[in-house]
Amino acid sequence: MHNRTSESDSSELAKAAEMIRDARRLVVFSGAGISAESGIPTFRDAGGLWSEFPPEQYGHLSGLAQVAMHEPRRVVEFLLAVLEPIAMAEPNAGHRAIAELAQRVPVTVITQNIDGLHQDAGSETVHEIHGSLLSVVDQSGNLVRQLSRNDLKTTVEAIQQAQRKSFALPRTLISLRKLIGVDLRGMHRPNVVLFGEAMAEPAWSEAVDAASACDVLLLVGTSGEVYPASTIPEFASAIGSTVITVDPNPARGDILLQGTAGSVLPQLVELICDEGKTP
Ligand code: NAD
Repeated sequence: MHNRTSESDSSELAKAAEMIRDARRLVVFSGAGISAESGIPTFRDAGGLWSEFPPEQYGHLSGLAQVAMHEPRRVVEFLLAVLEPIAMAEPNAGHRAIAELAQRVPVTVITQNIDGLHQDAGSETVHEIHGSLLSVVDQSGNLVRQLSRNDLKTTVEAIQQAQRKSFALPRTLISLRKLIGVDLRGMHRPNVVLFGEAMAEPAWSEAVDAASACDVLLLVGTSGEVYPASTIPEFASAIGSTVITVDPNPARGDILLQGTAGSVLPQLVELICDEGKTP
């Protein structure tokens, strides 16, 4: 039997706060929803990326290669749709609340996101199981370079300028060279996991270990439709941990806190941190 709450239901919030306060090891497992209030659209919600760029084509390397051969401009549009919001984003109140939690409880963050916002908010232990748009790797997965958010911004601006000029396609390819291309060391690309590819390591193994050893798992903004990431809460449930879910449409968990990450998480952290303070 699940306990569902609306944003105004303080008893479920208080129960969740108590569970987290008493936890010895807390794991936060986040998905695209936690970054929605930073202006990065989720993929599956109405108007999300997959409605304009079907995942069967754009979520796979082979599908992307096919589109690139027939409609290279569409690939550039897709890249801009992914890159631009992440380049412009800043952590929101939800990311900051999670970083603040570490002052009360040992916290490990496992994220499916590729946007680096948990680290920007101050979280220290973050396992990015789908990789990061802020790092570039070679074909063997070795790190080629780390990018700053400003590098992403200048890349986006360069692509937009290239598109307004003649010879737009070759100019665009040049503007993308920090992220995608070929040099003396071979091909390089963003360190993100596409459908059908292996999970990022060692992040995935460390994530499974952390989920298998936590008392409480806080699930934030994930539809649970992407496998094998969707199995992370099962590792926690298998050892009897409590799963607390924060989502406007919470689908699974022991305590369901209905609402956005930016609104529910700061309330939760305030309750956790206020307890024990003398009036
Ligand atoms: P999803 O798009 O499948 O599901 C998003 C979930 O977030 C839904 O349950 C939705 O109800 C919830 N949500 C929407 N707004 C919210 C808010 N303000 N606060 C809290 N929850 C909210 O996302 P997913 O399950 O993470 O799977 C999509 C995949 O795409 C992931 O693997 C991820 O790697 C990738 N992705 C990453 C980013 C990013 O890096 N920011 C953005 C989009 C997608």
